[in-house]
Amino acid sequence: MRHFDVLIVGAGHGGAQAAIALRQLKFAGSIGVIGAEPELPYERPPLSKDYLAAEKPFERLLIRQPAFWAERSVEFILSATVVAVDAGAHRVTTDHGETLGFGQLIWATGGAPRRLSCDGHDLSGVHSIRTRADVDRLESELAATRHVVVIGGGYIGLEAAAVLRKFDKQVTLVEALDRVLARVAGEPLSRFFEAEHRAHGVDIRLGASVAGIGGEGDRVTGVRLADGELLAADMVIVGIGIEPAIGPLVAAGAAGGNGVMVDELCRTTLPDIYAIGDCAAHANRFAAGATIRLESVQNANDQATTAANAIIGAPEPYSAVPWFWSNQYDLRLQTVGLSGGHDATVLRGDPATRSFSLIYLRDGAVIALDCVNATRDYAQGRALVLAGSRVDPARLADTAVPLKELAAG
Ligand code: FAD
Repeated sequence: MRHFDVLIVGAGHGGAQAAIALRQLKFAGSIGVIGAEPELPYERPPLSKDYLAAEKPFERLLIRQPAFWAERSVEFILSATVVAVDAGAHRVTTDHGETLGFGQLIWATGGAPRRLSCDGHDLSGVHSIRTRADVDRLESELAATRHVVVIGGGYIGLEAAAVLRKFDKQVTLVEALDRVLARVAGEPLSRFFEAEHRAHGVDIRLGASVAGIGGEGDRVTGVRLADGELLAADMVIVGIGIEPAIGPLVAAGAAGGNGVMVDELCRTTLPDIYAIGDCAAHANRFAAGATIRLESVQNANDQATTAANAIIGAPEPYSAVPWFWSNQYDLRLQTVGLSGGHDATVLRGDPATRSFSLIYLRDGAVIALDCVNATRDYAQGRALVLAGSRVDPARLADTAVPLKELAAG
């Protein structure tokens, strides 16, 4: 049986960064990384942006080149999925039947796209966007595609819609709630992106739910809405969130539900087992201490470093400021902080200029900013979020006053 001092399950953003951080911290033990996908760790955000747009080749998505891993003796076991964890015996088993021993385990498995449960959800031509293979499959069908229905008005659905409009596809976006980005952003931001997509020719249907997906043979031909309307589609992209990939760990006894529960050092309730990234439920200081999962590169990377620090015996509790970005058309959205639970917003700048920020407050303190083509606000607003600054809303709204001048407020 092979044995690793640290075994990492999941070769994505968090898994890669955990191995990088351990070596940076001079961890000298053996490191193995088991990954379900065939590729070395690569960046996932471009999958719905420049990789989908065919503007960046896959090689440029790799988080590190093969030589980097070889030089640092990080061993990859790819195209292998961990199906069982024996916490007491410090062993995992893969779908190939291989058993591997570990000293410490880092669970960094991300999540699987949530699927629709309606008729036709598994027809050919119905796609999700989570892996390189998903995008390659989708792209191989694009030439023969005219009508695309995107289900879900979150970031991935909106980014995909923007790219598909670039390819001149007819795009209809179906969102069940009454605005896009409803779960993550305030209404002014939602309305801005809705208007942008409409101006670029996306047919946006709000408050619309999907009753079923129809096909001919095994190929999709349309999406039926609950009100009976049939939207023609030769391709459907489903972007309705993920389910954290935690089955084997929970079966092994780890506490969890929507994600594996971890403490401030990313330790699960099982000895010597850590969890990081999209699959880890943690109490987050920037969510007023609420237990949440974050789906962002920032969180995966920073939790990876937290776990690595704990493993080498230099623990530092996780308290990183959340940040995120999204690219749609020529718009760059940058987010810092978490807007959930805000009780007021301040608009800084005029959305009509396509450069503005939406600032979120709770009990008078700045908790988050969504900055559209406003990198300076994003960079300077971070200090306001970190300090939970209380600033007069009129000053926040005044674009003549740089946010850095308000940081001490
Ligand atoms: P992942 O990177 O998903 O890696 C998990 C890996 O574990 C996967 O390769 C998976 O196959 C593997 N795995 C799962 N189960 C097992 C198992 N049992 N055994 C072995 N391997 C397993 N974030 C941003 O901050 N900004 C963005 O603009 C942005 N855009 C995004 C666009 C898209 C299309 C997607 C899909 C995500 C985007 N994200 C973005 C989110 C970001 O990519 C994730 O938050 C990040 O990848 C999380 O890292 P992770 O290590 O937790 O999971």
